[in-house]
Amino acid sequence: MTTDLSTAERLSATLSLIEACTREAGRSADAVQLVAVSKTFGPAEILPVLDAGQRVFGENRVQEAKAKWPALRANYAGVELHLIGPLQSNKVRDAVALFDVIQTVDRPKIAVAIAEEMGRSGHVPALFVQVNTGDEEQKAGASARDAEQLVNQCRDELGLTIDGLMCIPPLNADPAAHFLRLAQMAGDFGLQKLSMGMSADFESAIRHGATHVRIGSAIFGART
Ligand SMILES: *Cc1c(COP(=O)(O)O)cnc(C)c1O
Repeated sequence: MTTDLSTAERLSATLSLIEACTREAGRSADAVQLVAVSKTFGPAEILPVLDAGQRVFGENRVQEAKAKWPALRANYAGVELHLIGPLQSNKVRDAVALFDVIQTVDRPKIAVAIAEEMGRSGHVPALFVQVNTGDEEQKAGASARDAEQLVNQCRDELGLTIDGLMCIPPLNADPAAHFLRLAQMAGDFGLQKLSMGMSADFESAIRHGATHVRIGSAIFGART
């Protein structure tokens, strides 16, 4: 996509691609939700996307989201915010207060902290477990080996509802193999939702059953 398109035009083109790909995959028109990843961008870039009707956004840092979204939300009803970056224990209170969906539950300690904070505050964001499908040392996410135990612990010991799984495939790998693996794991665990696919690979993710695609640069342009 060329840089002289406006943000709203890139949003519209992205939604068209998602729709075409969903249809080609034989899935129902509303099967895939766009999470517009607005990290690093400010109101000047986000407002045209809100004005165009997009309401679901992803942010990867709690503090950044806390600084910019309350003011935006005050003027736009129905915003749904997803946390897609790693969560630290000391940010759990803010995260539970601010986000509608936390996609990055990845270890027992954070699950326990989220459960406690939900009980304390009464805020109940939807939850996904992040799986490190490439078993990359530097990447967040439960290892494929630990994921099932984490999902079971959330459900059985902590009373948390886990809606689905999320992954970020390794940079230099074929993403399709990771999407396939995540879809199989979700099936095995009885989970319905799959957050997978970014600007470069969301079409493949949709073919493999993504219910949420997290798209930043294709809409907002390159991050600096
Ligand atoms: C930044 C980010 C995205 C969006 O990446 P693009 O390549 O800009 O679409 C998706 N998922 C996560 C977890 C991210 O941190």
